[in-house]
Amino acid sequence: MSDHVFGRSTKGTMPTAVKGEGCYIIDKTGKRYFDGSGGAAVSCLGHSDQSVKDAIRAQLDDLAFAHTGFFTSDAAEELADMLVARAPEGINRVYQLSGGSEAVEAALKLARQYYLEIGQPERRHIIARRQSYHGNTLGALAAGGNAWRREQYRPLLIETHHVTPCYEYRERRDDESAEDFGTRLAQELEAEVQRLGPDNVMAFVAEPVVGATSGAVPPVPGYFRQIREICDRYGILLILDEVMCGMGRTGSFFACEQDGISPDIVTIAKGLGAGYASIGAMLCTETIYQAIANGSGMFQHGHTYHGHPLAAAAGRAVIRAMDERKLVEGVAQKGPVLEQMLRDRFGQNAHVGDIRGRGFFRGIEFVADRETKATFDPSLNLSGKLKNAAMDAGLVIYPGKGTIDGKHGDHVLIAPPFIASEDDLAEMVDRLGQAVDKSLAAVA
Ligand code: PMP
Repeated sequence: MSDHVFGRSTKGTMPTAVKGEGCYIIDKTGKRYFDGSGGAAVSCLGHSDQSVKDAIRAQLDDLAFAHTGFFTSDAAEELADMLVARAPEGINRVYQLSGGSEAVEAALKLARQYYLEIGQPERRHIIARRQSYHGNTLGALAAGGNAWRREQYRPLLIETHHVTPCYEYRERRDDESAEDFGTRLAQELEAEVQRLGPDNVMAFVAEPVVGATSGAVPPVPGYFRQIREICDRYGILLILDEVMCGMGRTGSFFACEQDGISPDIVTIAKGLGAGYASIGAMLCTETIYQAIANGSGMFQHGHTYHGHPLAAAAGRAVIRAMDERKLVEGVAQKGPVLEQMLRDRFGQNAHVGDIRGRGFFRGIEFVADRETKATFDPSLNLSGKLKNAAMDAGLVIYPGKGTIDGKHGDHVLIAPPFIASEDDLAEMVDRLGQAVDKSLAAVA
């Protein structure tokens, strides 16, 4: 191994990945790992998809790069059309970027510029939710509510305001129905808007199904409808971050379709490139676009590599593959099968507090005590143990840390490739079972 790589962790070593084959990643020793989380919900088509590889090669032969300050490309234009054709109602414009954090940064800046263009310069406050992740660049990190990720950069972060997440397992009171819980949270948002001054608030940012920080937490029914109403009442932009839960992961192309609402701005990434290219996108309504088109005429933003033809060709091929093989429909059909497998294997486990999610986006939260929902002491590092035990068992699974204040427990995020058959899912759950049994035996 090279001494010159600055990796995520400066401790320990990792296997060297050399090949991808369908649901599997193969390391240098020949060991096969079922990619049960696509890294972090990236590899929706699995590995080494021929049609995407061919599409990238063909684009590379024709044109690798032309700067978006000078040219557009067929790949970028067609990808924009394909995304809008599948987008929530009212979403009509696509700004292509290189990943999720970039998409969120662009969304925040677009919201700000929109209000300047329409003569509401006081609108500057961003409200988001605790237990959320929107990216690691400073603006996106400021929007996110994950205390651990934010802590050391706090002096550098723009001011944002965080309200309670729609995290039923931890936040709903025993004497409250799911609907009442959603209403209480919506009222909390409204109170926060009032506190900041309705004319000063720019945007509310949320992941429809929360990914990295909490492990596939879906909203309760009706929550997002009420959030949408509050945003409309006060003229606040609703920014939905579908970087992780979008692109078919939950069984519909955009997760928010299942909540019956449309955002003003929506971000996507991971599944769009499916691991074949570094691409993200920010989509917005025609109203926002026209405010800029009829105003200053230019969104004051941009990156060297945004709208990169190779990335756009990959994204276009990913959507074609999803369409041709009806993969999103497959996720909608097989999602409940996966859920049942998880319930059968883990439902009776004394240390499994919650099994949740939608489609091929599932989470398991672990607790020391099911009655009290007490979390394991974070110093036991259960999530780290789960990750390692899974790797030993030949499984990639995305771990999430518990917190000392009991705001959430250690959890794993499960996000298999859409191409996984029921037998593949059973194999994944079996490997996960081995990892869970081994890790819990070490801490419980
Ligand atoms: N938003 C969400 C919801 C995410 O899950 C992530 C990545 N985990 C990001 C934004 C940031 O995306 P990227 O890592 O591509 O910058």
